[in-house]
Amino acid sequence: MELKFLGGTMEVGRSAVSVKSNNNQILMDYGALLAREPGFPMHVPPKEVDAIFLTHSHLDHCGSIPVFYINGSMPLYGTSVTFDVSRLLIEDFLGLSGYYLPFEYLELEEMMNHSKNLSYKESVKIGDFGITLYDAGHMPGSAQILVEDQGKRLLYTGDVNTNETRLTKGADLSYGEVDTLIIEGTYANEDHPPRKEIEDDLVKKVKEVVEEGGTVLIPAFAVSRSQEVLMVLVANDFDYPIALDGMALDVDDIYLRNSEFIKDPRALARAISESKQVKGWKDRRKAVKRPGVIISPAGMLKGGASVFYMEKLAGNSANAIYPVGYQVRGTPGRTLLEQRKYISHGKVSKVEAKVERFDFSSHCGKSGLEKIIKNSAPKKIFIMHGDEENLQTMSKWIKDEMGIDAITPKTGESFKI
Ligand SMILES: [Zn+2]
Ligand SMILES: [Zn+2]
Repeated sequence: MELKFLGGTMEVGRSAVSVKSNNNQILMDYGALLAREPGFPMHVPPKEVDAIFLTHSHLDHCGSIPVFYINGSMPLYGTSVTFDVSRLLIEDFLGLSGYYLPFEYLELEEMMNHSKNLSYKESVKIGDFGITLYDAGHMPGSAQILVEDQGKRLLYTGDVNTNETRLTKGADLSYGEVDTLIIEGTYANEDHPPRKEIEDDLVKKVKEVVEEGGTVLIPAFAVSRSQEVLMVLVANDFDYPIALDGMALDVDDIYLRNSEFIKDPRALARAISESKQVKGWKDRRKAVKRPGVIISPAGMLKGGASVFYMEKLAGNSANAIYPVGYQVRGTPGRTLLEQRKYISHGKVSKVEAKVERFDFSSHCGKSGLEKIIKNSAPKKIFIMHGDEENLQTMSKWIKDEMGIDAITPKTGESFKI
């Protein structure tokens, strides 16, 4: 097999890997870098691609796939829920950044027309390759990809989480030993606090605010994080109104339709039925006037209904703003955490509300990555999807502590395996 890294190597964004045999080529992910002007992976002539495999619906993994359907007609494999959510996120991407994208709605439609659903552990043959998806535990429907060719085994983790959450079971590591591992390194050198601890802390602090008459805004990504936080609150007998806003409502429907990818579909259905769906401005104005919780995109406070909520809630010390995801440098969410200021449309306002971030990560930390490496016992490891410094440190501990050859490839580099 020959591996070529097309993007997402020393960064988070535009993940794409090509795998070639003597006669065939497949791609694993083909994402987009989300910057002011989006970035794309290296070009591959569509004629040379036999099939594309998608690990999950985050745009840094799927955001550039439609480009292959301008002329191409190769099949695209993934789970049903991954395709439903990808459509939603790429539509949104076209709406926000369409001017910069090398494809349009038509190509997204063509991409969806060529999608083929796979279940976990169901194998498909593409020429020389045998390919199987395994649960990655990163979000409902997320997959790791096992590629087999002439007795050689390659595993690509995509984004992976070995820890259980309310929505997901944690990565399935039952694929056994592999020859080569391509692993993510987003949080390669730290461990997140145990989920239960974070959940209890969030519930306690939200209750404190609401019982004193305040309103809590939880800026959360619409896919998976919003549903998880909602489930945490409902499972902990939170008796105040929980409003759910934005694209999270569409994702609720997708998850309920694809319940085989949800750890506990009944608990999710119950949580959704107990939430209040925000359908328009009347509901939004109502939500900010009463004690309760509002779960709304954008997860980093960049646009979405969160702008309105911030304007209404941030000035009052009785309220709270509790982001639940990573806040990228330069986003309003990061500025809020570091400077207790909120900047929107160039306007700076001081924030009186309580501010704290809760670390609901969907990536595993160092010990989870170690577990994957021990379990798969590879001879060679390629690390991607993380800051350069982080990935270098990871490659060092893999070599020093585990004695395995580890490489941090650059975009464009090829390797025979
Ligand atoms: Zn992801
Ligand atoms: Zn990712």
